Amino acid sequence: MRKPLSDSEVQLTQSLVAGASEIVITTHKSPDGDAIGSSLGLYHILKGLGKQVTVLIPDQAPDFLRWMAGFDKVVIFSEQKEQALESIQRAGLIFSLDYNHLSRTGQGMEQALRAAAAPFILIDHHQQPEDYAKVCYSNTKASSTAEMIFQYADQCGWKSHVNLDAAECIYCGIMTDSGSFRFPNVTPETHHIAAELMSLGLDHARVHREVYDTNLQDRLRLTGYALNEKLEVIPECAAALISLTQDELKRFNYRPGDTEGLVNQALSIKGIKMAAFFREGSNEVKVSLRSKGTFDVNQFARKSWNGGGHTNAAGGSTTETIDQAIARFKQEIEAVSEQIMNS
Ligand code: 5GP
Ligand code: MN
Repeated sequence: MRKPLSDSEVQLTQSLVAGASEIVITTHKSPDGDAIGSSLGLYHILKGLGKQVTVLIPDQAPDFLRWMAGFDKVVIFSEQKEQALESIQRAGLIFSLDYNHLSRTGQGMEQALRAAAAPFILIDHHQQPEDYAKVCYSNTKASSTAEMIFQYADQCGWKSHVNLDAAECIYCGIMTDSGSFRFPNVTPETHHIAAELMSLGLDHARVHREVYDTNLQDRLRLTGYALNEKLEVIPECAAALISLTQDELKRFNYRPGDTEGLVNQALSIKGIKMAAFFREGSNEVKVSLRSKGTFDVNQFARKSWNGGGHTNAAGGSTTETIDQAIARFKQEIEAVSEQIMNS
């Protein structure tokens, strides 16, 4: 197995964990399967080490992630502020999982984390991590943070604490972030780890069912509407986009997570190399970007959409109106149409 951490990083981790009786695990805003899966995976491992652990998330997770063991103990910053602040103050160690910059935890939580006295350990696969952690375990090639959690536990000598609960959470993180083991960042090691998790008795079919076969009717109808009425193809740029306004979302009783995967549907069109999804919120328009080839949507998101991510999957936001955002998007992709076409 590859050695992702140096010996001194392993030692530092072990002493930081040994020296902290209360540990807080944090992840990014609008948490996805990897955010919750890696956080709860590590939660179960650290609990096995006898630690008092709190998983703190900035805002609520979608329904299809709330089945994971330990989710009932998760503290939600936007809903339980006092408890959240108290846990940050009491923490002897804070983990940053699946995000590369404290601003990804959102206003309020970012401030509280910056003011924390505890040292940080960052474990993440996004590019260009901010420099604030005592141990920065960054691997931009990893399929998911959850995969890194397994390797991390292995290197720190905690593999025996990867119990069935931890295995389910870690598997869920890997499965969701790798598009069910199909994105290019899946390696033989990703499959080795999945195999090890299965050998613990993991019911992988159940994990898949909980995440992908628990749709409400409204969500499917919203998807149908978005694909039928709101999909725009721009063949001269090899691009496609979908947008949904607040009114449209309301019509289908939108719940967080309902539009996840829509942008990938747009990208799945033959000949399309880049896709975008615009979702109007109350204060901002959220943008999701995907690409199939070499066109770097992380750079595009950083430059034009106040965001970031990975080469083939990134996101950002804007305070423009949704119409302004879409108009600007079209101008900007026209300017790089050659690059997209040749990617
Ligand atoms: P999604 O489109 O699924 O929301 O996000 C895709 C990828 O882009 C994820 O890896 C996520 O972390 C990243 N991402 C999404 N939104 C933002 C954002 O506002 N800022 C940054 N820096 N990254 C984002
Ligand atoms: Mn991730």
